[in-house]
Amino acid sequence: MPAQSLPRVIAIDGPAASGKSSVARELARRLNFVYVNSGAMYRAVTWSVLERAIDPADKSAIAKFISGSRLDGKFVDGEFHLLIDDVDLNQHLHEDRVNAEVSRVSTVPEVRKLLVQRMQDYATKHDSVIEGRDIGSVVFPDTPYKFYIDASPAVRAQRRAAQGHRDEIAQRDQADSSRAASPLVVAKDAEVIDSSDLTVSQVVDEIAGRLRAKNLLI
Ligand code: C5P
Repeated sequence: MPAQSLPRVIAIDGPAASGKSSVARELARRLNFVYVNSGAMYRAVTWSVLERAIDPADKSAIAKFISGSRLDGKFVDGEFHLLIDDVDLNQHLHEDRVNAEVSRVSTVPEVRKLLVQRMQDYATKHDSVIEGRDIGSVVFPDTPYKFYIDASPAVRAQRRAAQGHRDEIAQRDQADSSRAASPLVVAKDAEVIDSSDLTVSQVVDEIAGRLRAKNLLI
């Protein structure tokens, strides 16, 4: 990060299995920015809720749990990992039960508030590529670098199946787009890229070109 300049945030939003994680990770690597996967943070909270046998429909129990937990972060190979009560849950984040409940747990306002605070806090210290659903619209509305990665439903279903996970992505998209708090939307100033027929590196090249046009050199 150049001396005296504010850390930069590149926001990458999009629906489930649109390829945004692979793109965001590769983009961060090329830029030497840190990579923050906000979905992984909501997944870590969800796993912890399920592991403690808290009912994922019980918003006040989830709020109580998260408010009483210690949230920390560490960077592993340039990627942010959320620690809950000192435990790194990274290996559990794609379990079927997490896929099934994460959209519900992420509607709890206390969860969103605490995770958003963490993201905003880390972004004051590091140049970051941050991906999720509401990064350009709510978490970093002022960043000039906003992208929305989409892909056709068929391609997205195929990509998720190829990863070997059971994940009802259409249901998650419906829940994520229709919720009251911070729904999945295309931020009004985001640049939309359809990745259906593109490889990860083609999408990263496309973003790199658009960032160069905004004088963010890569
Ligand atoms: O990105 P990923 O599919 O891993 O996200 C898992 C879930 O976390 C999403 O379906 C959504 O419910 C929630 N999420 C969110 N806000 C974000 C990122 C993810 O609500 N910024």
